[in-house]
Amino acid sequence: LIAEVVSLERNNKLFALGGIVAGYSILAYTLFSSQHEAFESFVYQPDPSMVTFIQEARSKKGTSTLVEKYKDVKVIDVHNHDGPRIEFVKPTWDEYSIDKVVLFGSVSEPAAIRDDQRSWNAFKKHPERFYPFFSGFDMHSEAGIEMVRKNLEQGYMGIGEVVAASTYSEVVSKVAWKGKDAMDGYLSDVYKLCAQYRVPILLHIDPLSGSQIAVLQEALKKHPDTKFILAHGNVRSIGLDRHVVMLKSLLEDHKNLYVDFFAGHSFAAGERELEAYIPLMEQYPQQFLLSTDSGYGLPSLAFAYQSMYEVIDRLTPETATKIAYENFERLMEEQPPTKTQIEKINQLLEVTGESIEGKQVNKRIAAQLIVDLEKKKRKLANPVSQ
Ligand SMILES: [Zn+2]
Repeated sequence: LIAEVVSLERNNKLFALGGIVAGYSILAYTLFSSQHEAFESFVYQPDPSMVTFIQEARSKKGTSTLVEKYKDVKVIDVHNHDGPRIEFVKPTWDEYSIDKVVLFGSVSEPAAIRDDQRSWNAFKKHPERFYPFFSGFDMHSEAGIEMVRKNLEQGYMGIGEVVAASTYSEVVSKVAWKGKDAMDGYLSDVYKLCAQYRVPILLHIDPLSGSQIAVLQEALKKHPDTKFILAHGNVRSIGLDRHVVMLKSLLEDHKNLYVDFFAGHSFAAGERELEAYIPLMEQYPQQFLLSTDSGYGLPSLAFAYQSMYEVIDRLTPETATKIAYENFERLMEEQPPTKTQIEKINQLLEVTGESIEGKQVNKRIAAQLIVDLEKKKRKLANPVSQ
């Protein structure tokens, strides 16, 4: 343990004093731990084999389902409310080869706080499969902003779904903590925190037209370092052609905007509706993401996943790869560990005598490390029972 601490201390001037007793070394290490990152910064690298997988899948003869055809392609569902019930939905995720899912539950109301905790627990159990988001905070109170800060420090990887505005949605127009537009309450402070922690925010806005769009543009312009995800951006309140033109101008003017494409919604509306978005995706391949919204308003969740593959099947391999997973994976994997995570890891390394020298660590890996090191710590404390 002492050797480990000393090796972690190698860049510290205190080390040069030499002959320090172990206790002092540990104290010094704790004091300076935030400056002592024994690990490397994480460098995100997209999987180069995905484009080839798609090309190969398309060249194969025979009739298989789209899910079978694209089973090797990574797919992320970026908008899912099943955080509180992963055990019931897991068979569907497996059946549809869904690699990763963004989890939350209820949104923008007090009940969301409990669901956020459940999404976090699911992430702790399966950090390779879930990205935890949270939505349980009151955007109109300072306490709400403190809650946002606390959750981000803890390691949540995104904020949402946040109801920035809702007039027509049967469910979310009634939630207690909804906003009146994308600049309401303390949302500006939330956007600043998003930029600081490099987490995206998933915004529900309905209707997607008129003054709501104008205010969204204001938020996008005032917060260029914040990544905004427009929840179910293809759910429209105006004509299809006008809606596509509106999205195009938003995507063109704001490179910090991503459109969450609720595939099942457009697929259910018919071929013309789905096809209307394909050229837009090809034109802005880095700004689209795919989701199910847990199948809201659709015949089934399975239909929602089937629809994601319908979109993938209509795109060029390069665009399909980006939209199916890469755009979002980049947003997640480029998040650095938080100060709280680093401190926790340093404490656990001390106790367990483990080393992470040279390991690349981002926020997700830090969360996983904490879980693993806590297990080791318990084992050390109680070797018989485990
Ligand atoms: Zn939703």
